[in-house]
Amino acid sequence: MNTGEIVCVVCPTSCLVHAEWDDEELVSIDRARCKLAWDYVAAEIFDPRRTVTTTVPVDAGQSPLVSVKTASPVPKGMVFDVMNDLAGVVAKAPITVGDVILKDVSGTGIDVVATMNVA
Ligand code: SF4
Repeated sequence: MNTGEIVCVVCPTSCLVHAEWDDEELVSIDRARCKLAWDYVAAEIFDPRRTVTTTVPVDAGQSPLVSVKTASPVPKGMVFDVMNDLAGVVAKAPITVGDVILKDVSGTGIDVVATMNVA
């Protein structure tokens, strides 16, 4: 049995959750103030993911940069691959929130989308 402490970040309370898990599943949690910690802790152990946020240059826009994010969280181990793939990307104005800036980033099946408008 594996054990560890994981901070639940589902809400600002930030409970330090004690977890026990085996090779296949989360077995128990303790010290969580609510049941929302279960799914979060299980994901952190077996499939940790992060939303990547950054900016990319804009060609011919009123702003030199546009803020972007992955449309959904990517596997934590691929965060640097995503950043590398975005390194050479230049977005073309005009840009609207939600526009796809890079499709299927790093083969994750997840798009990178704009989070601001650029005229
Ligand atoms: S366990 Fe519940 S109360 Fe604690 S941080 Fe997670 S969501 Fe918030």
